Amino acid sequence: MSTSRIIIIGGGIVGLATAFKLQRQCPEHAVTVLEKEPGVGRHQSGNNSGVLHAGLYYKPGSIKARLAVSGIREMVAFCSEHKIPHDVCGKLVVATDDAELVRLRALHERGIQNGLLGLSFLEREAMLEIEPHVGGIAALRVPQEGIVDYPRVCATLQQQIEKAGGRIVTGARVTGIRSISRGWLLQTGAGEFESEFLVNCAGLHCDRVSELAGETREVRILPFRGEYFRIKAARQDLVRHLIYPVPDPVFPFLGVHFTRLIGGGIEAGPNAVLAFSREGYSKTDLNLADLWDAVTFPGLWNFLKKHKRMSWGEFQRSCSKRLFCQSLQKLVPDVQVEDLEPGGAGVRAQAMTPGGDLVHDFHFVSRPRALHVLNAPSPAATASLAIGEEVARRVAEMIGAR
Ligand SMILES: Cc1cc2nc3c(=O)[nH]c(=O)nc-3n(C[C@H](O)[C@H](O)[C@H](O)COP(=O)(O)OP(=O)(O)OC[C@H]3O[C@@H](n4cnc5c(N)ncnc54)[C@H](O)[C@@H]3O)c2cc1C
Repeated sequence: MSTSRIIIIGGGIVGLATAFKLQRQCPEHAVTVLEKEPGVGRHQSGNNSGVLHAGLYYKPGSIKARLAVSGIREMVAFCSEHKIPHDVCGKLVVATDDAELVRLRALHERGIQNGLLGLSFLEREAMLEIEPHVGGIAALRVPQEGIVDYPRVCATLQQQIEKAGGRIVTGARVTGIRSISRGWLLQTGAGEFESEFLVNCAGLHCDRVSELAGETREVRILPFRGEYFRIKAARQDLVRHLIYPVPDPVFPFLGVHFTRLIGGGIEAGPNAVLAFSREGYSKTDLNLADLWDAVTFPGLWNFLKKHKRMSWGEFQRSCSKRLFCQSLQKLVPDVQVEDLEPGGAGVRAQAMTPGGDLVHDFHFVSRPRALHVLNAPSPAATASLAIGEEVARRVAEMIGAR
């Protein structure tokens, strides 16, 4: 049996950043991270677009808006300090018709309200100077956004945590959590662990982990796969930096876009289709327990009823490279089906209410000896250090208060 004052379940970027910040805020407390995989950052944190988001999209006053704005600054500083590859190359959000132009102007206002500096509204001529192949009628330039190597961020966080005396135990899937007088007793694939305080950062499984700790699952995690194509090497001059569409405000997903990768190459995507497995990275992955969990949740059916067209459209686009390419051509008209080759995929952990609404904000639930992170979707990788700071502050207050 191992004991630790604080145990964090989940070695993704949010769990690691939380451990890193807890060690700074409460250096007297031992911190252990339990991760079920053989290494850290193997799920959302290692399978995403690798973009540094600055907080343009999020509702002013939301936790997301606040932590995204401080988070990107902290992430860029962390990467510079630890020599992690990153590039603050700026992004264009492109309006392709008059309706999108109205939404783009609203987005501009929102960005200003959220405290973003240096936003500029570009007419077509000015857009072409930055991205010579871009379509559309106008764009918003977000200068402080960029690209980064998130797996390297995770690896560096791991080194820093271990250097400061923390433990990261891999191959430690948490399968049981029991409340005991001193705190919690955890059953894992790597033996039993005891802790006084628990932090749940289990990403795609955070709702289940909260249930193991005695919570009722009011919101449920629904897995939305995001599929990518890569632009063939000979056509990579089509995109210089980051080209994004104007997002639909109803959905937290940003729409298929073009991303230059920090390791080289250009990615196009991701779409957003319901996955039949919480860790289903390919179309044929099926996990019966995950599927049952989704189809028995009224929220899924309410969501599908409300968003029939969008859901059907995403499904069709997932099955058709031609339709995928058509969406991309709205942003870069010259891109052709034959320029695209298969890319990877990631699965988003998206919390949904029983009424079928997607939870937009980051969602933390505090209990006397536990804190559950129950929704940490994009831009939680960018904002991870700020999320870690916030969670660590709440945990320190709770531990200090008892
Ligand atoms: C396709 C896609 C594109 C995205 N693009 C961006 C982007 O460009 N920029 C950005 O900022 N964000 C982006 N995001 C969002 C970002 O990747 C996530 O918000 C972030 O990685 C969440 O981190 P996490 O630590 O909460 O989750 P995860 O990285 O999923 O980590 C959770 C960890 O918990 C572990 N775990 C689960 N259950 C257990 C258990 N029972 N016992 C032990 N361990 C367990 C898992 O193995 C996993 O390692 C994107 C996400 C996706 C899917």
